[in-house]
Amino acid sequence: MRKITIVGAGQAGLMIGVGLVRKGYNVTIVSDRTPEEIRNGRVTSSQAMQPTPNAYEREFGLRLWEQDYHPWDGVEFNVLSPEVFDKQYSFNAAIGPTNGRPDWIVESIDQRVKMPAWIYKFEELGGKMLYETADMEALERYEAEADLVLVASGKGEIGKLLERDDEKCTFDKPMRALGLAYVKGMKPVQTKDGKTFNRGLTWNGVPGVGEYFVCPALTTSGECEIMIFEGIPGGPMDILDTRDGPGKYFENCLKILKEFFPHEYERSKDCVLTDDLGIISGRFPPTIRKPVMRLHNGGLAMGVADAVCLNDPITGQGSCNASKFAKVTYDAIINHGYRDFDADWMQDTFDTYWKMAKPVVDWTNSMLVEPQPAQMKLMIAAHDNPKVGEFIIRGFDDAGRLMPYWFDEAAADQLIAQLNDETAKEEAA
Ligand SMILES: Cc1cc2nc3c(=O)[nH]c(=O)nc-3n(C[C@H](O)[C@H](O)[C@H](O)COP(=O)(O)OP(=O)(O)OC[C@H]3O[C@@H](n4cnc5c(N)ncnc54)[C@H](O)[C@@H]3O)c2cc1C
Repeated sequence: MRKITIVGAGQAGLMIGVGLVRKGYNVTIVSDRTPEEIRNGRVTSSQAMQPTPNAYEREFGLRLWEQDYHPWDGVEFNVLSPEVFDKQYSFNAAIGPTNGRPDWIVESIDQRVKMPAWIYKFEELGGKMLYETADMEALERYEAEADLVLVASGKGEIGKLLERDDEKCTFDKPMRALGLAYVKGMKPVQTKDGKTFNRGLTWNGVPGVGEYFVCPALTTSGECEIMIFEGIPGGPMDILDTRDGPGKYFENCLKILKEFFPHEYERSKDCVLTDDLGIISGRFPPTIRKPVMRLHNGGLAMGVADAVCLNDPITGQGSCNASKFAKVTYDAIINHGYRDFDADWMQDTFDTYWKMAKPVVDWTNSMLVEPQPAQMKLMIAAHDNPKVGEFIIRGFDDAGRLMPYWFDEAAADQLIAQLNDETAKEEAA
């Protein structure tokens, strides 16, 4: 059977690895961290997963927490923006099984919980784990012994061996200073139109300052909430640094909320951190790389997921993209049979993924700069018509649905008129 070596035991690497061992492939996953180190280490993400990527996890037999974790029950957006809009705009959607929408499952499983469990599952199915930090020499070694080497190393340094794709990159510097705080003790969401979400996400933006969102999750000590901070670099939210220690770090989180997101401060002021490693700070430039890596010995490796398509987390798409990339790569490997995994196959596989990823990248990048007229119109319309709000929120699962409306003002006008018309007819009936 064909031999596949994957660098990186993360969302994409483990999905591909588990999928392929189930089909009888000889798969080795190389990880720079053991399951124990991952479990006892620092948090890495807020890792919210939408319905489509969740369905792929199900297909790969990796939905391991459905019995003991409750998905979200709502999503609310608040754009607090006196400079750009003339008041606060809010919209929301009730989602999940408790609202009669079992097909709309969104959830977040701490990667410290998920990845160790997936590694054990992979080994149970016959996959081999190799614990080392891969470099060029190691890639050449893997390539000499395998039919295909995949680099699914996330933001790991080794990914920088893949050439940056200047044409596909929009930014050359970090656009947000990122922070995460895993907490317990948060009060439920009370939406502006009077709903209560016990397990809801809220997303808040203040142009010129940054964004703050918060979502329920399952962590190593049970259910929790994750605070996610996206501060404009050098701005007033750019004050989170893990080197300050967890106490001071969390004090600064509450300071940001009190000043810029007072309604969120009220929900959060009595929260405590889940653990001292439940915080991160950092920043990185969103970067697209070319998928084909040429090794010094003339061999090839292929980059997948964040290693080639790294987005800012402002739209919470990275793990979702990794799941989608894993599905595309898995299908392409199976369909390729015993033929060579050459540079054309690698490029074609990436191009198939890119059709799905490009709208995600364009939409995510648009959220990092001043909103365009079409986007302002959609958000203002969503405040008055829940159908428009739901249309935008569904874009988190499939950003392709947002196109061309998100960028084309005339298309946005037409869509808003159509959805307003539908609402008026329903109200009249
Ligand atoms: C603050 C923040 C919030 C986020 N929130 C969300 C969200 O809400 N929703 C969402 O969908 N995404 C979110 N993401 C993004 C998401 O976490 C990532 O996009 C996703 O985990 C990428 O999956 P991956 O498989 O490409 O890489 P990863 O999951 O990062 O896995 C890569 C693995 O490779 C290992 N590795 C690296 N280098 C080497 C090496 N040389 N040798 C061996 N192993 C190596 C790493 O240790 C790691 O285990 C967020 C990210 C951040 C930073």
